[in-house]
Amino acid sequence: MSSAESSRCFFPESVEEIITLLAEGNNRTCLLCGGTDLLVQWHSGVTAPPETVIVINAVPELKVLREEEGHLVIGAALSHRALAVSELVRSRLPALAAAAADVGAVQIQNSGTIGGNVANASPAADLVPPLLAAGAAVIAAGPRGRRRIPMESFLRGYRSIDLADDEFILHFEVPVLPAGGRESFHKLGSRAAQAISKVAAACRVVVEDGRVREAAVAMGSVAPTAIRLPEVEKILSGRPLDSSTIQEATEAARAAVRPIDDIRSTAEYRRWAAGSLVELMLEELSGTAP
Ligand SMILES: Cc1cc2nc3c(=O)[nH]c(=O)nc-3n(C[C@H](O)[C@H](O)[C@H](O)COP(=O)(O)OP(=O)(O)OC[C@H]3O[C@@H](n4cnc5c(N)ncnc54)[C@H](O)[C@@H]3O)c2cc1C
Repeated sequence: MSSAESSRCFFPESVEEIITLLAEGNNRTCLLCGGTDLLVQWHSGVTAPPETVIVINAVPELKVLREEEGHLVIGAALSHRALAVSELVRSRLPALAAAAADVGAVQIQNSGTIGGNVANASPAADLVPPLLAAGAAVIAAGPRGRRRIPMESFLRGYRSIDLADDEFILHFEVPVLPAGGRESFHKLGSRAAQAISKVAAACRVVVEDGRVREAAVAMGSVAPTAIRLPEVEKILSGRPLDSSTIQEATEAARAAVRPIDDIRSTAEYRRWAAGSLVELMLEELSGTAP
């Protein structure tokens, strides 16, 4: 099969139809949602178009967005734009909304989806740090039923996720900001738009009586997968967000990351930037950002 024109395309309208089509497929079958990663790969020859393409972006159950029992249920086929403009997402998960608003530019945001961003398994996927910092879980569906996988174990390694060939991401369950919670997201790329991150970072803190009660810090493009930074979280825990805490956390972030040199940046710059993004986020969350 040498061109996308010769692929067979299916357009299922329900979760059950996706399951059936995947079960009938083989290793030349592929799911496509917004197509913003896949079409670039096929067009540039990085991967060949598959025999069968299952286009899942019109399945209603993959487009749900609702709040229930302390978390948002976010359908895998929701576009970045849908998340960025949603009042529900902006108020409950501000870092995720900010990350979605920073993906590519408006055209990419209109087609690209949260499910594709996560399933593409890139360490530079911008929505992953805020999902990790919020303690999100993936709900996968397949012929053996549904299963819930915490985001951290879903990301198994470089370009590797915990999803069988006959499974797909149905939705995400993302704990909303608790009372006293604040979030921040920042990314560094070579331009303001249409730039894959050199480093991206998200932070969620819960402050009570002037001290950090809970802290979660996550980063992309500094290791084989996006990661949480427990060393930084430990420093923040129980402390006020003052300049000495922020300085210690900044240095701890630089020591914790394991970046590499690649086409977009150097390991040295990424290590420095990882600390600076932590510093910026914490200053913002403490109200002392310049
Ligand atoms: C110009 C440009 C700029 C970009 N800028 C950014 C950026 O700033 N930040 C960023 O993070 N990304 C960026 N991207 C990458 C891309 O847009 C995002 O990763 C997007 O979210 C992918 O979603 P999609 O629906 O288009 O995925 P698709 O291309 O449809 O699919 C990507 C992969 O995910 C799989 N998949 C899709 N949905 C599911 C599902 N529900 N279950 C299981 N597997 C699934 C597909 O089989 C495929 O392997 C950019 C891309 C382009 C072309």
